[in-house]
Amino acid sequence: MGIYNIIKTNRKCPRCNEKIDEWQSKYLTYDGYVLEKLLKEIKLNEHMDGEIHALCDNCKAFLEVTIVKGKDKEIKPRSPQ
Ligand SMILES: [Zn+2]
Repeated sequence: MGIYNIIKTNRKCPRCNEKIDEWQSKYLTYDGYVLEKLLKEIKLNEHMDGEIHALCDNCKAFLEVTIVKGKDKEIKPRSPQ
């Protein structure tokens, strides 16, 4: 497991609707500069772009969210089904 930052949100799993409150950063930039991964909790804001991910505890879907200007662009489940 690599190091990442922690993002707390109210996003829900698009497959089973389970609330997932802790996401991990895959990569995030702040005004175009790559944010260091320091296992810190960060809040997304309009300066940030990138991708975050999480594993749903309930249905085990691996989820990736594309972040554009601090907002979700798209949640895509990455599971074989
Ligand atoms: Zn789920």
